[in-house]
Amino acid sequence: MNEVKPPKKPFIFYYAIALLAIFLVNAILVPQMAKRSVKEVDYGTFMQMTYQQEIGYVQIQENQIIFTDKDQTTVYKTGIVDDPEMTQRLYDNGAKFSGEIIEETSPLLDFFLSWLLPILLIIFLGQLMSRQLMKKMGGSNSMMFGMGKSNAKIYVHSSEGIKFSDVAGEDEAKENLTEIVDYLHNPGKYREIGASMPKGILLVGPPGTGKTMLAKAVAGEANVPFFSMSGSEFVEMFVGMGASKVRDLFRQAKEKAPCIVFIDEIDAIGKKRDGQLGGNDEREQTLNQLLTEMDGFEGNNGVIILAATNRPESLDPALLRPGRFDRRVPVELPDLKGREEILKVHAKKIKVADNVDFNKIARMASGASGAELANIINEAALRAVRDGRKFASQADLEESIEVVIAGYQKKNAILTDAEKRIVAYHEIGHALVAAKQSNSAPVQKITIVPRTSGALGYTMQVEEGNHYLMTKEEIENKIATYTGGRAAEEIAFGSVTTGASNDIEQATKLARAMITRYGMTKEFDMVAMETVTNQYLGGDTSLSCSAQTQTEIDRKVVELVKKQHIKAAQILLENREKLDELAAFLYEKETITGEEFMRILNS
Ligand code: ADP
Repeated sequence: MNEVKPPKKPFIFYYAIALLAIFLVNAILVPQMAKRSVKEVDYGTFMQMTYQQEIGYVQIQENQIIFTDKDQTTVYKTGIVDDPEMTQRLYDNGAKFSGEIIEETSPLLDFFLSWLLPILLIIFLGQLMSRQLMKKMGGSNSMMFGMGKSNAKIYVHSSEGIKFSDVAGEDEAKENLTEIVDYLHNPGKYREIGASMPKGILLVGPPGTGKTMLAKAVAGEANVPFFSMSGSEFVEMFVGMGASKVRDLFRQAKEKAPCIVFIDEIDAIGKKRDGQLGGNDEREQTLNQLLTEMDGFEGNNGVIILAATNRPESLDPALLRPGRFDRRVPVELPDLKGREEILKVHAKKIKVADNVDFNKIARMASGASGAELANIINEAALRAVRDGRKFASQADLEESIEVVIAGYQKKNAILTDAEKRIVAYHEIGHALVAAKQSNSAPVQKITIVPRTSGALGYTMQVEEGNHYLMTKEEIENKIATYTGGRAAEEIAFGSVTTGASNDIEQATKLARAMITRYGMTKEFDMVAMETVTNQYLGGDTSLSCSAQTQTEIDRKVVELVKKQHIKAAQILLENREKLDELAAFLYEKETITGEEFMRILNS
């Protein structure tokens, strides 16, 4: 099962070249050479040579005469002419009649031309091509086809030197990995008691949460070499290459032990082997090799494998069993405290004003990953430079959050006056509905400046603290808030626009989740109608119910959203004056803060 098959492709290729070469030699070269060795002469020359007794051997064939000169150095041939005395004349002039010498080419030459030459040609070609191939791959001379070397980069800890302190938040993950660092520092302690370290640790979480960073930090803390490779780097065009790269990687790692091997995006090779027709041979072989290598070394030899993925559900169960990747460390999106810490870590790299409120920025950037937060800080620094300031200010940071969420502001106003008025009502509709319901996050900012993402305006709500659970009422209020924009348009203009498409999508998603996943309806009770198929990448879901139930769910979703839409419209109608006043204010100012909004609302 683990044997590496010889690569198929190149050999088929060489067979083809060989056949072609034999064919060409036989079709063109042999007749050419044969022709050259037999000299064709006219009958007169033949007669003249006969009379001058210059003929050695002669053979009379059906439609030609083959003969040699006296020394048998040249073979001649001529056509048959009706000449009854020819035989007598030849005999009289001392020609010998024979069959053996008169061959058009010597058998040795024939053999050489039609067999030896093509084979030599092929060997030469093969050598040439293999050398070319090796040059391309940058491998050594010992490498023939299919025996790839891994190009795992040895991590130089002195230059990058990432430590746990550079990774903000993620305390649980760090705690988990600290044990590994301790083991790498002091393996004897563990060996004494008979404990063996997990061979593999799987870091799972959404993109940009610092999985790669954590792996580097483990190596940095433990001060050991760090081999890093991405799962996709193993998968090559030729079957067998990936497996041999795995072998090579582990060989190198064992030489350098104790060390850390990091495989990023392991799902590229570790995907479930589903036995489907047309499966990926190369990937499966690579995975098999990885499994074998992981079984092959002792738990205590100092090689620790860290792998990262954001699709743990797609991994092959064989990879996850104890003895392989037996420890799973979740690296989740940071919470409020985590976000604040990450912002502070990255803010150290740039110059920021002293009065920056990181807590507020962290609250505004709810749901952002570490990578996004790092990006926000960098955008703020860029904005400060653009505006000729020496420090990034609070405003820079807040604006850069909006850039990351909604894109840059569009410089040229593209909205007509009437459109701008509609957008103003739409946004105030959201804000007003949110403000008039209990348990909604406070409004932070409302703007009708179009963004490059396509948003014509938006209302930013910011939670006060962490929010892990949502009640049914809160979700319903949220749906009502989403429908508030459209409701405001209806009330103010009596018509509707396309501006609500994103709201509609979000409201539907929430309503559907309430029914299919959160068990928030009486009819379906606590039955899952939908399962999340990939938790860390967008959270796609797949339905798992009968067609009839689906119809029922659709009906319920419509009912739910409709109810909230009516509720939102009611709230707005009750506050019609405030709606007009706030919309006019927003139309005028284009961007208003939450405080301004609340002041007008409460006046
Ligand atoms: P992943 O491997 O999870 O996709 P990375 O480890 O490559 O993410 O993180 C990308 C970048 O995001 C890092 O280089 C770092 O700048 C930033 N980052 C992510 N998480 C954190 C964190 N917890 N603390 C500090 N920086 C972080």
